[in-house]
Amino acid sequence: MQKVKTVGIIGGGLSGLAAATFLARQGYRAKLFEANGKVGGCCATTELQGFSFNDGAMYIAIPGILDHAFERLGLDRTVLIPLRQIIANQNTTLSDGTVINIGHGRDIRICGENENIRQARLDIELDHLLSKWEPVLRLLTTELIPHPFSVWRLLWKGGIHLSKFHGTVASELNAVFSDPAVRAAMAGVMHYTGLPPEKTPVLQILGLVSIFSDGFFLPEGGMGMIPKVLTDELVKQNGEIFTGAKVEKIELTNGRVSSLRLDRDESIPVDAVISTVSGMLTLGLLADVNSAPSSMVRKMRKVPLSHKALCVQLGLSNCIDVPSHSMSHLPMMEDQYKVFLPSDTSPEWLNYTVPTVTMPELAPPGGSIIEMFPPINQLWPADRWDDEAKNSVAEKAICALSERHSMDVVAKRITSPRDYQVRMHLFDGAVYGLSPAADVRFQFPHKTPIAGLYQAGQTTYPGYGVGPAIMSGIFAAECLIKET
Ligand SMILES: Cc1cc2nc3c(=O)[nH]c(=O)nc-3n(C[C@H](O)[C@H](O)[C@H](O)COP(=O)(O)OP(=O)(O)OC[C@H]3O[C@@H](n4cnc5c(N)ncnc54)[C@H](O)[C@@H]3O)c2cc1C
Repeated sequence: MQKVKTVGIIGGGLSGLAAATFLARQGYRAKLFEANGKVGGCCATTELQGFSFNDGAMYIAIPGILDHAFERLGLDRTVLIPLRQIIANQNTTLSDGTVINIGHGRDIRICGENENIRQARLDIELDHLLSKWEPVLRLLTTELIPHPFSVWRLLWKGGIHLSKFHGTVASELNAVFSDPAVRAAMAGVMHYTGLPPEKTPVLQILGLVSIFSDGFFLPEGGMGMIPKVLTDELVKQNGEIFTGAKVEKIELTNGRVSSLRLDRDESIPVDAVISTVSGMLTLGLLADVNSAPSSMVRKMRKVPLSHKALCVQLGLSNCIDVPSHSMSHLPMMEDQYKVFLPSDTSPEWLNYTVPTVTMPELAPPGGSIIEMFPPINQLWPADRWDDEAKNSVAEKAICALSERHSMDVVAKRITSPRDYQVRMHLFDGAVYGLSPAADVRFQFPHKTPIAGLYQAGQTTYPGYGVGPAIMSGIFAAECLIKET
């Protein structure tokens, strides 16, 4: 064992900031290197002409995980980052003309034929869904995510629920809800996975359950407040943050991590490293890839990546007339695979969010923001997305939106898979790193076979999502502390 004093942290997203803060509070010398000019990674925000655009994450689900993570960092989330609940969650217009409004708590309203009878049935079926899945949600937030993953813990604490974990979102919604329009609207809530309901593992239904149980939230001031608060704390604890400092190589001496080589050809001596870039990118950072541990190489070859995305963000000088934070025009559940298919014309189905419904101050007075992820060809490699290709998809999406709403667009930002790859450093432009359909076997462990090298972030446990990313940074830091 070697006495570790200086830890280099690669990446200034939530997991890197959390790992560095945790270590700095324990007396370690934490040096965080971020390739971009600012920290925050996929939870940062960018100001453009007075509009506050998300760089990645758009809302907080299961806020208990965020609270727990802050508690572990010795911070009071309720004081530092007050949350504003999304009261009008989702408005979905289905292909049969039914409109379903998911409001606040368990308030869901059906507008369509025989709506009173359908509403009464929905209320009962929603109770069934929640009585089955709320205990699993609580298990996840109180017993599983607060601890590094262990099969024994899962069996010990969650054994009685294991039989629920088979199947897909589609099979579960078919079993619980008798109304096809309700099934379709509920399935739409989980489209953030980038997968159609029949390919989405049933556990993702917790994303839906959490709307009704806990609610979805925005931090006061926008998503960028989360990395800002962590940055302030890290600086307070004497942690050092280097922005515009891309790590090119992790260098080893006698098989142990010894320094980080930066793109400005500078070598920084370190006693240990926590890499929060994906497992795939971490492997590429090893100075001698041939000597990379075979377990990491094998995993890298097998990992199922998440989808690539193209994001269209519009700043409007007018206030768009919508009833909900999230707006969808969808086919019935069996046809929702079509929502993910690219098209040569304007997309027929639409799914967009209007964060200014919940937080008008993200736009200049009287204005609004729209965020939309139109379908794209998943078979294209990220670097095929040149300006012409991305503008073509974006213009069709904007055209489809302008048929529904009056829009005076004054700011526009389009982020293609290539931009996610080059600007946000996401491997192959895959937004969540690993596919939400991948099980824990595909995640990279916090401790690597290389002495002094640890991993956190999106491709480790739990990693995917705002609260889980912070937890993964804490786990990696704890693992490092335990071993030194
Ligand atoms: C489009 C999108 C939408 C999302 N929506 C949501 C949502 O609504 N709710 C939610 O909970 N989660 C959402 N997520 C997921 C969530 O944002 C992430 O899980 C979380 O922010 C990941 O944090 P991280 O620190 O692990 O990784 P990142 O945020 O990716 O941070 C890694 C950092 O490392 C830096 N870096 C990379 N390579 C190097 C290098 N060689 N040297 C130095 N620095 C380097 C990067 O620039 C980046 O800042 C979304 C993600 C995306 C992309």
